[in-house]
Amino acid sequence: MSRTDAEGTASTARTARVRRTRVLMADGRELFYFDDTEPFVSGEPRAGEDTRDLPPASGGSRMRRDPLTGEQVPMASNRMDRTFLPSRAMCPLCPTVPGGPGTEIPAAGYDVVVFENRFPSLSTRDEEPDSLVDGDPTWPERAAAGRTEVVCFTAEHDASFASLTPSRARTVVEAWADRTTELQALPHVRDVFCFENRGKEIGVTLAHPHGQVYAYPYVPPRTAQHTAQAAAHHARTGRDLLGDVLDAEVRSGRRVVARGEHWTAFVPAAARWPVEVHLVPHRHVLDLAELDDAERDELAHLYPDLLARLDRFFVGPDGEAIPLPYIAGWFAAPVGPERDGERAALPRLHLQVFSVLRAPGKLKFLAGSESGQGAWVSDTTPERIADRIRELPSAFPGAVVTTPVDEQPSEQPVPPSPEPVPSSDPSVPVAGEGTP
Ligand SMILES: [Zn+2]
Repeated sequence: MSRTDAEGTASTARTARVRRTRVLMADGRELFYFDDTEPFVSGEPRAGEDTRDLPPASGGSRMRRDPLTGEQVPMASNRMDRTFLPSRAMCPLCPTVPGGPGTEIPAAGYDVVVFENRFPSLSTRDEEPDSLVDGDPTWPERAAAGRTEVVCFTAEHDASFASLTPSRARTVVEAWADRTTELQALPHVRDVFCFENRGKEIGVTLAHPHGQVYAYPYVPPRTAQHTAQAAAHHARTGRDLLGDVLDAEVRSGRRVVARGEHWTAFVPAAARWPVEVHLVPHRHVLDLAELDDAERDELAHLYPDLLARLDRFFVGPDGEAIPLPYIAGWFAAPVGPERDGERAALPRLHLQVFSVLRAPGKLKFLAGSESGQGAWVSDTTPERIADRIRELPSAFPGAVVTTPVDEQPSEQPVPPSPEPVPSSDPSVPVAGEGTP
């Protein structure tokens, strides 16, 4: 990928034909174009200037440590004012129509764009010194000195990740890898998490296809769990945990839904969500930046195909497929002293895609056990989820599209979930990150 920043310096690295251009937005935030089409990929400058009258970008987010759990809780009160489901004409992620009001992207078109979130929950701007809540050492408080970015997958407002061409999906992978490398290098950052919230059921506030990157100034709970489990497994066996899980899933084959040369997708044996798939690289890599060209290429084919199958998982009463609301997150190894040790003792990069939809029109609510205890009770079985996905046609050669002969076909393929227990408490909303 060739790079040109606002100061005009350029460097060339291996990888796909993608050109990165860095510009500054009207309020000083950074924006990166990742161009894979002409004329920009060949060097035509990105000239559009953000002419909006915006106050300087601010941060000032704080986080407090919960003494009962040891977890950090960022306090992002500025996010209350963020844009909520604007009309299509007011979409801040669409290109700026020449002569029209400025959006976040000051160009008449783009391929993939990444920019700093205007309403960040983590920010390195306006860092205040560490302090104590009410002056009491029980509650330490410090700057939530990380960064949150928005990744626009395409300029097309009505598209989805599943509809991206492999070459555009590859450009998104390049953008993820680029942001992973740069954000890991920030002084306080301990974990970089690339994710997508899709669908209003997840709490998405903007319909335009986009994802986010969070660079946390602490190791978030799930990555901490993955890290502890991987280290314990390595101490016992000398091997990497997810590598052994992958081998076991392939040995069984029961829940595998797609398998390529470099990646395998399966419903994990202890899946928690009504729909859940993990996508795991065959090589032990720590993060997206460590993927090589061949792994990135196959990912750009396999992943949109997998999402397209998930978009046919549920069929409504009218016979129409229901686009799946989902959360897709790339779990990587933490950044920091952990990386000085044995690589195989660190968690392997992988993607988790999961949905709160358990039947057409019915959401899984995170009630007392899940929200209160973080203790999951599944409404279905991983094997039923896998059976349904394996029924769905795929354009990817390694996708499993037929039910094994030794398995009985599912009695109720659509939907695969049993009827809900009526006593479940619907008062707790589903988990979901708000979007910019
Ligand atoms: Zn849009």
